[in-house]
Amino acid sequence: MSVQDDLWFDATKCFIGGTWVAPLGGEYLSLKNPSDGSEIAKIARGKLGDVDAAVLAAKNALTGEWGRMTALERGRILTRIGQLVLERVDELARLEAADVGKPLKQARADAVALARYMEFYGGAADKIHGHTIPYLDGYTVYTLREPHGVTAHIVPWNYPMQIIGRSVGAALTMGNATVLKPAEEACLTALSFAKIAEEAGLPAGALNVVTGLGEEAGAALSSHPDINHISFTGSVGVGSLIQKAAADAIVPVTLELGGKSPQIVFDDADLDAAIPFLVNAGVQNAGQTCSASSRILVQRSIYDKLTEMMAERYRAMKVGPAMDDLDVGPLISARQKEIVEGFVRHAGPARIVAQATVITGAPDGGHYFAPTLYAGIDPDDPLAQNEIFGPVQAIIPFDTEEDAVRIANGTAYGLVASIWTHDGARQMRMAKAIRSGQIFINNYGAGGGVELPFGGVGKSGHGREKGFEALYGFSVLKTVAAHHG
Ligand code: NAD
Repeated sequence: MSVQDDLWFDATKCFIGGTWVAPLGGEYLSLKNPSDGSEIAKIARGKLGDVDAAVLAAKNALTGEWGRMTALERGRILTRIGQLVLERVDELARLEAADVGKPLKQARADAVALARYMEFYGGAADKIHGHTIPYLDGYTVYTLREPHGVTAHIVPWNYPMQIIGRSVGAALTMGNATVLKPAEEACLTALSFAKIAEEAGLPAGALNVVTGLGEEAGAALSSHPDINHISFTGSVGVGSLIQKAAADAIVPVTLELGGKSPQIVFDDADLDAAIPFLVNAGVQNAGQTCSASSRILVQRSIYDKLTEMMAERYRAMKVGPAMDDLDVGPLISARQKEIVEGFVRHAGPARIVAQATVITGAPDGGHYFAPTLYAGIDPDDPLAQNEIFGPVQAIIPFDTEEDAVRIANGTAYGLVASIWTHDGARQMRMAKAIRSGQIFINNYGAGGGVELPFGGVGKSGHGREKGFEALYGFSVLKTVAAHHG
């Protein structure tokens, strides 16, 4: 079965105001399959004019059918979208696998997560309430949670379905009208999502999708004078540009950026339980995960044992085309492969303890990179400081709890961390001491947990998505003070 069999919509169109339209400029971009380099589809190269039309359609939706809907009605539509996603899980998985290069089972998990976001937020739509506030004699004061208005959603290529679910899903729940700009490298499931939303009866203009380049469609959207909120997931460099655009327009912005997330393993940890989490969190989606665990901090007394246990897993790991559904797929692009190989070249071979195997016969046009495990890495080494965004992990030894905290907090990032120990008091001390948006104890949650508020500190960004917390971020509080005597 080819990808084209799963293209049940016209990928060359943008979705604006409830209709599928060709880009105004009549230009198209080529979408490539990372597993073999072949062209999967042409997509619209949307620009300022297309973004203008999408923002206008969203504004109109706020005063039209969408804006008049009750929270209950919005929730029902989101729930229906979730059901339709589940009915199409297999084809969504195949599209995501072809587009992003992730093994089918991971792509399927992402499709199920998208459905789960819609179920969670569909159910939550009528459960966000205001407050009454005791005030002066003769007054009644209450608060209302209202939508921002038009929300912009700029998402990357690594987890399109999950990021659309958590960001667009939460924004729609609160009654915002959304404009989504997927990444130019992978946007088939964003377009599928629009098609499904249309089928589910989402009113015209509540969701608009404009594909195109970041510096064209993305920049036009983030600097558009009529947007009221920006949700951006992507790199630190572009995040900084987005925050400047938001500052110029004085609109709130949520930035979900990169990470250098540590897992910290103490000598009393259950290593058999830990090992799958330690390794998978580093190589899942070929390490192209914001919350990838690229640093493994291990107490020196178990350093040799743990290193060998991880190395064994690496040696057994197979890399190949997404549709072969092996452990790891290709990187997204030749450019990404060059970046990852650059880190490895610079680090040299001396500290490599194990590598996975790219299967024989993997297509030449694919961007394959064998996951690589380094040990004995100094906390200040580039491998321990920079987000590589590839399947490369660095094992870093430490002696004391204080060392572990210092090393864990010793990068510019703070997205996710995990602590592996059975000492309850140590778990609590570490959870407090580590600067990170999420802390896992004796587990690790790269990507999962729609219910769990997620976001960073430091260069990992600010604002929270996922869970109920996202619903506060995607709404504004209005205070009403009535004097009735
Ligand atoms: P990127 O910043 O290059 O692109 C992300 C999105 O921004 C794309 O849609 C792109 O088209 C758009 N964009 C690019 N330039 C733009 C501009 N000038 N104005 C407006 N939009 C623009 O990031 P990437 O390389 O696609 O993704 C990798 C990065 O994303 C990594 O750093 C990773 O850590 C981060 N990421 C973070 C999370 C998270 O939740 N924290 C999730 C996934 C990825």
